[in-house]
Amino acid sequence: MLSNSLNFKEFQNNMDFSQLIIQWYDRNKRDMPWRQTREPYLIWVSEIILQQTRVEQGLAYYHKFTTAFPDVKSLAEASEQAVLSIWKGLGYYSRARNMHHTAQKVMQHYGGKFPVTYLELLTLKGIGPYTAAAIASICNHEPIPVVDGNVIRVFSRIFGYKEPVGSTAGYKKIFKKSTSFIEHSHPGTYNQAVMEFGALHCKPRQPLCNQCIFQKNCFAFAHNMVDSLPQPAKAIVKKERFFHYFLIIHPQKGLLMQKREAGDIWQNLWELPLVESEKFMDAAKATEKSGLFAQQGIDLQSAYTDINHILTHQVIKSRFFYLSHEALLTPIPPSMQWQDVSLLKTLPIPRLIDKYLKIMSHQISVLH
Ligand code: SF4
Repeated sequence: MLSNSLNFKEFQNNMDFSQLIIQWYDRNKRDMPWRQTREPYLIWVSEIILQQTRVEQGLAYYHKFTTAFPDVKSLAEASEQAVLSIWKGLGYYSRARNMHHTAQKVMQHYGGKFPVTYLELLTLKGIGPYTAAAIASICNHEPIPVVDGNVIRVFSRIFGYKEPVGSTAGYKKIFKKSTSFIEHSHPGTYNQAVMEFGALHCKPRQPLCNQCIFQKNCFAFAHNMVDSLPQPAKAIVKKERFFHYFLIIHPQKGLLMQKREAGDIWQNLWELPLVESEKFMDAAKATEKSGLFAQQGIDLQSAYTDINHILTHQVIKSRFFYLSHEALLTPIPPSMQWQDVSLLKTLPIPRLIDKYLKIMSHQISVLH
């Protein structure tokens, strides 16, 4: 630790940082399809998909999405269900809904030409400062730095910033510092270089400090703080919700399902009939509260299955009951429909429901 700190020398020249990181990028960057283009629609699609998604998974979805919707017009003209169906399995469906909305706005307000300036981009739904900076710097050469999780880690370690991840003070500090470094002739390359360096080299765990171009200038390395920087985000207190779902299979008609409405999670996705309550209920209580079943003759074909599903701001504690369709003695509410099992592959459904249906695949497969 002592020898590391003796060698430590803070960057004196801004150009050193940007040149070093761009040189590193040229030698080490991964070959990705969105790095072969400056087409703003394609850059936008890749940036939205890669939020909250690993590159390996994102790559498959990028191909799938751009094959289904090769340009902004085809996306705008598609139905929301078609867009959600392509997004199926990726989670955070609001990203897909916002993209659909934005594509329609681009057709209506910009004649189908995707805007590329930072300020115009910020007016579009689902595009925040990070995505706007990425598109504007790559497609319009605007020298605006991106600040994502990778960038925060790299800057916090090299410059010894101790503000927690997600704090406004930390964001501002990094944005200002990166603005002073950004290469005006290649701002897009500079931005991608910092993010790629964070993703491949200055990784969250086991960063490659021993082969690092910044070793002598890195505050965290010099002060033995690589594992403690960046400071973790303040824990979010997640709201707990208790969902009771009913898997009701009809041998000819399929599964009974309902479409979620606006104003809550999973808007417009399909789920099983649901009862939400303040805490978990047993089968008798849950079936009674659902109003779907007559009090008598309920055939519980298996024990219930509990699954915890964690979202950004909520923990969904879910309990699934599997019931015979014969238990369904009351008329089906208009909000529900029987869904043919062959359509389940394309039907946009939350991951939680997908997970449970996989567990029950044997019971469901008898319908094929
Ligand atoms: S020395 Fe280690 S912590 Fe510092 S920038 Fe390099 S990889 Fe990251």
